[in-house]
Amino acid sequence: MPFDTALTRALGIEIPVVQGGMQWVGYAELASAVSNAGGLGILTALTQPTPEDLRKEIRKTKTLTTKPFGVNITLLPTMNAPPYHEYAQVVIDEGIKVVETAGNSPGPVINLLKQHNIIILHKCTTIRHAQSAVKLGVDFLSIDGFECAGHVGEHDITNFILLSKARQTLGVPFIASGGFADGQGLAAALALGAEGVNMGTRFMCTAIVDAQETDTELVLRRWKNTSRLFKNKVTDEAVRIEKTSTTGKFEEVGPLVSGKRGREVFINGDKDFGVWTAGQVIGLIHDIPTCEVLVRRIEKEAVESLERSQKLFRGKVGQPKL
Ligand code: NAD
Repeated sequence: MPFDTALTRALGIEIPVVQGGMQWVGYAELASAVSNAGGLGILTALTQPTPEDLRKEIRKTKTLTTKPFGVNITLLPTMNAPPYHEYAQVVIDEGIKVVETAGNSPGPVINLLKQHNIIILHKCTTIRHAQSAVKLGVDFLSIDGFECAGHVGEHDITNFILLSKARQTLGVPFIASGGFADGQGLAAALALGAEGVNMGTRFMCTAIVDAQETDTELVLRRWKNTSRLFKNKVTDEAVRIEKTSTTGKFEEVGPLVSGKRGREVFINGDKDFGVWTAGQVIGLIHDIPTCEVLVRRIEKEAVESLERSQKLFRGKVGQPKL
């Protein structure tokens, strides 16, 4: 158990790897597998059709792991507004200790959860949003670089800049999100000042193994809700409409980018059926290990990588090389 970071201590986990919320992917099976492997698994609240379904999924997860796991609550533009407070209340009732929040105007939900001493890991793509979240009393920031899957924000700052800016300015511990798939990445994130990493795409599978880092596409920028998606026929069509529409109405692309349709991809396995999120990190993924094998591999790689960096210098700072 080599890792001892603010994240591992606060969450009571062994390896500083968080499996971030993923729509249509973050079910009990995945979350429990990641937690059992020593990381933090996360259920995605809005993948469950109702708050009561979330309650059932939380209870199912408790039968699959005795380790800590969290719940993601994402507040983004949606075709049907979910009852966020009801989902949050279920999280509180079920004794969940950590919540990953993401998206716009999270204040009321964070306030409610903080009243119950729940640890908040808030995901953001800009330092300005991170600073607002610090004022809301979040415990950790999850700094999400432009490489990431899904909602990349509108400022396109990659993690090399964003993580160092977080270290320089925030004063609250943070983890690195976007572009991470292995232990070398974890070691790099720790070197830049993070307390761990968040991974999403790495916990997904088959079509990704065949994909390159160039196989993602940015959609919905025109509506200031930019999303990085796996590039396929549906995203190509959505981008074509986005560029050529004379009305600029979201409804023209709505049926293409619909989450309901995208969900089918995970059921029927047809990667071209709808849209689904993937990060540029797909180019670094070459196999489909179990969560146990993956998380342990990341631990080993990170330790080897950190040990390798230790060997890159000798003696003390300011003194001649031994
Ligand atoms: P959806 O089918 O309603 O929308 C599909 C896409 O269009 C989403 O990217 C959405 O943000 C966007 N969108 C919807 N209305 C829009 C508008 N008026 N202007 C601009 N963009 C708009 O949603 P979905 O993909 O089925 O997601 C359902 C719920 O799950 C949403 O509340 C969403 O925030 C949430 N979600 C969570 C995650 C996660 O990882 N936790 C990821 C994606 C979505």
